[in-house]
Amino acid sequence: MLTLPLMEDKEGVLVEGIVGDFRFVACDITSMIDRVSVERGLSPLAGCALGRVISGAVMLLRLLTKGYARLLLEVYGGGPLGKVVAEAFPDGSVRGMVANRSLELPLNVLGKFAVGEAVGNEGFIRVRREFLRGGVYESKVALVSGEIGDDIAHYLFASEQRKTGVLVGVLAKPSGIVGAGGVIVEPLPGVKDDSLKLLETNLSGISVSRIISEKGLEKLLQRVFSNVGDIEVTHETTLFFKCRCSRERLKKHLVLLSTEQLDYVTTEKGEIEAVCYFCGKNYRFKREELRKNG
Ligand SMILES: [Zn+2]
Repeated sequence: MLTLPLMEDKEGVLVEGIVGDFRFVACDITSMIDRVSVERGLSPLAGCALGRVISGAVMLLRLLTKGYARLLLEVYGGGPLGKVVAEAFPDGSVRGMVANRSLELPLNVLGKFAVGEAVGNEGFIRVRREFLRGGVYESKVALVSGEIGDDIAHYLFASEQRKTGVLVGVLAKPSGIVGAGGVIVEPLPGVKDDSLKLLETNLSGISVSRIISEKGLEKLLQRVFSNVGDIEVTHETTLFFKCRCSRERLKKHLVLLSTEQLDYVTTEKGEIEAVCYFCGKNYRFKREELRKNG
């Protein structure tokens, strides 16, 4: 019987494994997105978009070849939501931001949050990978729908020549975020046609966030791999939201800004104020501090 790590007081979990002719990565980040949405004052729509992009980032980090120190996933589609960014690290830490945190739009025709419309589809999905031993690999492909899941699948095909099924979703209720996560399934070489067809049928019409919300990640995997084979979990990671900003890092950025941009963030007291987009933390610097080197 499949036994996944219990969520308990964790903010999120990621599991990776094999089922028959497929490998998979899946995550449940419900608690993380619920907390971050409250702390950062995200509208349900913004929370949904951020949850999808963070799910994508943590899964891509595990799915793509190992040995990355950091993976950044950026989605920009020209819509009213602006840029959505997530960064995932091998220790399970993750951070993310959405440009227009308070955006609200009417529900779409399916009665769901209009993530595709909010993100827009006139832009790109960019993935930047930093290797543990140094060096960077970056690639960017056009968005197909702005719904994130389709866009990640398209990215994997266009940039990596990998065929996958990608589902990501977030379920918001008046009480908060009640389900958030996703799954990526990739066929192994030599997969049988019958298995592929069965998997496609299983994946179609699944609401990832609803299943996670009601029954958890274990049930989600059982649904995805119904009649496909036994689920073998080969790796698991505890996920948590943690910002890596620091006074020193922000100072370096500010020193590089022009005088004009510095004025823009000058407070009444003549101090320079900088806010971290990821966690909302406020840093203040004296003008003289920023003129010095480093
Ligand atoms: Zn921060």
